[in-house]
Amino acid sequence: MSFRDDVASFLATTPRPEGLHDYGPTPASSDVAAGRRWQRTLAEHGYACLHWPREHGGSDASVADQAAFAEECARAGVPRQLSMVGPDLVGPVLMGFGSRTQQDLHLPRIRDGRDLWCQLFSEPGAGSDLAAVTTRAIRQPDGSWRIRGQKVWTSAADSADLGLLLARSGGPGPGGLSVFVVPMANQGITVRPLRQMDGESKFNEVFLDDVVLHADQVVGTPGAGWQVAKATLGRERLSLGANAVGMFESIAELETAAAEHGRLDDSLRDEIVKAWIRVWLMRVTWERAIEEETDPSGATFSVLKLLTSETYRDIADLGGAALGPAALEEEQPLVKRMLVGHAQTILGGTSEIQRTILAERILGLPRAPR
Ligand SMILES: Cc1cc2nc3c(=O)[nH]c(=O)nc-3n(C[C@H](O)[C@H](O)[C@H](O)COP(=O)(O)OP(=O)(O)OC[C@H]3O[C@@H](n4cnc5c(N)ncnc54)[C@H](O)[C@@H]3O)c2cc1C
Repeated sequence: MSFRDDVASFLATTPRPEGLHDYGPTPASSDVAAGRRWQRTLAEHGYACLHWPREHGGSDASVADQAAFAEECARAGVPRQLSMVGPDLVGPVLMGFGSRTQQDLHLPRIRDGRDLWCQLFSEPGAGSDLAAVTTRAIRQPDGSWRIRGQKVWTSAADSADLGLLLARSGGPGPGGLSVFVVPMANQGITVRPLRQMDGESKFNEVFLDDVVLHADQVVGTPGAGWQVAKATLGRERLSLGANAVGMFESIAELETAAAEHGRLDDSLRDEIVKAWIRVWLMRVTWERAIEEETDPSGATFSVLKLLTSETYRDIADLGGAALGPAALEEEQPLVKRMLVGHAQTILGGTSEIQRTILAERILGLPRAPR
């Protein structure tokens, strides 16, 4: 039996936690309980963190197997993991920069879903320009740190156990930054959910008022935060790029909805075929990128993220044509997808920023004014 057959049979026969559905890269608070149980099930059957090296509990899975797993999960309507932040961002970053103690403490708990992580990077005045973060990390005489500041757009912060925090421990610019592991239950942390236009509250404001962190909660060395942050963002682009492999399912759903609403005419058929070709090309590009590009902060993954998020948005927008006037009347998943589709071109670095990276680092065009 091929790996894909194994996965399909596992997904067809394994009982699912009640309420589990394919909620995307990060869970809403109402999805967390089912998502945690699902992650534990994946770990028990050897399907958690397939891309991690074996020494850290992964499978060293080939690109083809990772794609097959993601596709089969999308087909079965389940998430491929609890959240992308722990398995795709924090895990690899701790393997690259974390201490042995941090790795031993956190990696097993990410793998089996005991810990849900959030990414505390963006601030009201620092999103695209992350090097401008102003949240302060002030070193105390006993070596501990006090954290003061505000983060925003933090997905899953209201349910997360731990956060990966980017803060300013030194002077201005990238050289003054450090990255910390923050237990979200610590005193001084206030999380306020933000309501989105689709009715969900997946992201939050996070206020940090004199939060105390120990010296061993720095990831890497103090002042090396920019390298850690860049590696995290590269991983995020790679992970979001991987969503390409689940998009065939979205196209199939679109076609079914259009047929049900009597709207599958030649013009919509053409659009669906074009979308299918785009997704197919992205899937090939994704496979090539993760085989050829070893540096996760490489520009290749920016191109992949750009292609994936814009294709996701365009497929989501076709929902309007598939549903017609029913899009105004019905509370249904295609409408929700239309509303969240545009967020894809913002999260993990906006399309404008990815185009600048593509222009400067791949095409070699003159640098954009800073
Ligand atoms: C659904 C969602 C989930 C998110 N989850 C998280 C999370 O968990 N953790 C986290 O830390 N952040 C998260 N974010 C925040 C995300 O990373 C930021 O929104 C993003 O980096 C853009 O930053 P900004 O919102 O501050 O916009 P800005 O940086 O203020 O940009 C505003 C506009 O100006 C454009 N722009 C800015 N600079 C340039 C430039 N140099 N050249 C050309 N155009 C430019 C941008 O492209 C954009 O169109 C999330 C965002 C979304 C939408």
